[in-house]
Amino acid sequence: MGQTKNKTENVILVTIDGFRWQELFNGADSSFLHNKKLVENTAKYNKRYWNDNLIERRKALLPFIWGTVKEKGQIYGNRTLGCFVNVKNPYWFSYPGYNEILTGFADVRINSNEFGPNPNTSVFEALNKSNEFNGRIATFTSWDAFNDILNEKRSGLKVNAAFENMEGSRSDSKLALLNEMQTKLPDIFDGVRLDAITFNMGFEYLKEKSPRILYLAFDETDDFAHGGRYSDYLNSAHYTDDFLKTLWSWVQNNPTYKDKTTLLITCDHGRGEGFEGWKSHGTETAHSNETWFAVIGPDTPAMGEVSKGQYYNNQYAKTMAALLGFDYKTENPVGATIDSVLGK
Ligand SMILES: [Zn+2]
Repeated sequence: MGQTKNKTENVILVTIDGFRWQELFNGADSSFLHNKKLVENTAKYNKRYWNDNLIERRKALLPFIWGTVKEKGQIYGNRTLGCFVNVKNPYWFSYPGYNEILTGFADVRINSNEFGPNPNTSVFEALNKSNEFNGRIATFTSWDAFNDILNEKRSGLKVNAAFENMEGSRSDSKLALLNEMQTKLPDIFDGVRLDAITFNMGFEYLKEKSPRILYLAFDETDDFAHGGRYSDYLNSAHYTDDFLKTLWSWVQNNPTYKDKTTLLITCDHGRGEGFEGWKSHGTETAHSNETWFAVIGPDTPAMGEVSKGQYYNNQYAKTMAALLGFDYKTENPVGATIDSVLGK
């Protein structure tokens, strides 16, 4: 019997920084949304995001995930149903979290967001060494730490982080407009580009250059949560879901990508419970090691909301490589593939 080749030729990875499984699976939290001390315009946001029916409520917040992805893909991490996703790293914040996602190795040495250049090889760096993927991997991130997290200097990966311009764009192109706009918007999170700019730059790049691997790293959900701005946190999750819808409908209408592309969506860490807990994460904040992920693609059987199992963020790297037909190994022990994503 011959080995069946996967249908996946391209992978798109999306991370939504510190977006909780609680809102993903339950929608807006009424104890926040209905508290006038916490949400200024409760009537407006109640109308937009509240529904007494949980299924309708989460769909109001994330219509693409609870529409297309639920119908045709897989969604993991609903702890209420007995499906658990966690980070393996012992820190529960961003750089250790992204290192784990991208290298498949929860490195205890990486204990700070200012760690500097990552000593570990990411799955993208490993693939970039192959003839097939060399120069065909692109990363667009809102947070400026990704130049170090992906060790741009050593890896040779194309990493467009925070306020970097997209070089080589025509003066009348959308990319030129995005270059122009990104430094003329309020820098409200200090060193973080707004996600709409990151998305549109990445999306334009996808359309123009046809990368085999695209990574979009969004940030706003985490920063709005730290600032206690619940309505902004919900709005950001909601329009990020719309970015995903735009991206996926383009992919599925483009012959280069249609039915040959897998989209994986996840987060770098969770958050605590209660309003004060939600504002924070890290080892002092219980439950902030709890995460989730969702997948849609030609090799991933439609299972919808997965109701059992224990998964870890260190498994995505090897799983993405396996989807592309590669066995990802590095100097470090990496997490195993998620076989249900691969249809095994
Ligand atoms: Zn944070």
